[in-house]
Amino acid sequence: MNPAIQVTHLSYRYHDGTEALRGVSFSVTTGECVGLLGPNGSGKSTLLLHLNGILPEKLDADGAVRILGQPVTPDNVETVRRQVGLVFQDPDDQLFCPSVAEDVAFGPRQLELTEAEVKARVEKALAQAGLAGFGHRATHHLSHGEKRRACLAGVLACEPSILVLDEPTSDLDPRGRREFKALLRQITATKLIATHDLELVVELCTRAIVLDRGTVVADGPVTELLDNEELMLAHGLERPHILRHHHPH
Ligand code: ADP
Repeated sequence: MNPAIQVTHLSYRYHDGTEALRGVSFSVTTGECVGLLGPNGSGKSTLLLHLNGILPEKLDADGAVRILGQPVTPDNVETVRRQVGLVFQDPDDQLFCPSVAEDVAFGPRQLELTEAEVKARVEKALAQAGLAGFGHRATHHLSHGEKRRACLAGVLACEPSILVLDEPTSDLDPRGRREFKALLRQITATKLIATHDLELVVELCTRAIVLDRGTVVADGPVTELLDNEELMLAHGLERPHILRHHHPH
């Protein structure tokens, strides 16, 4: 079976010359939940933007990124975007319709569904994101945690087989974080989660990849990686004391 995500020798340089990714390779099997760790500026967001063809600006056919076996090329980028649901780091970059229901309906509306099917998808996605009954609410009046969940609902409404999240719990209070983790646990899609929230990684992920300066510096079972204090400190990661003796897997 093809891996859900396969990245081979991926490099990327921004216009100003910043080398954000240097020869990144890894793959994610269908059904896995993988944490993407690394200090600020290590290339996590840049990498995620490559997974549904937002980057590079000019898609080529070199096959550095393959989704379910298919290279991300101009010809199949639309298909890839249906398969890979990307939840941005900042909800305000993602939400742009006046009401929650309209926002969540935006994705499914691009999918040649009937209006009844779109409505059913919206209801289902709102429920999955813990926002049942929030459809009529104004997106700009939602709390931060609710905005994050509205973004998740918008992505789930497209029924992607791969879910990619960029720091989904940053800026959430402890309860918001707990609620968001519980929602993620219910979602069966393949997941890749860029995060500084090591508690989330321990609770949800079986495997983690550590990026530093645009390069993969570690890839392995979460417990092994997080127990490697030398590795963690070398790459600006610190395992919270509370997790030191916690081995859920
Ligand atoms: P992370 O998500 O791990 O914090 P990023 O992918 O955001 O890392 O950034 C990787 C590198 O690319 C950093 O050096 C960052 O400053 C740089 N970078 C990010 N976005 C841009 C951009 N739009 N233009 C130029 N450099 C950028």
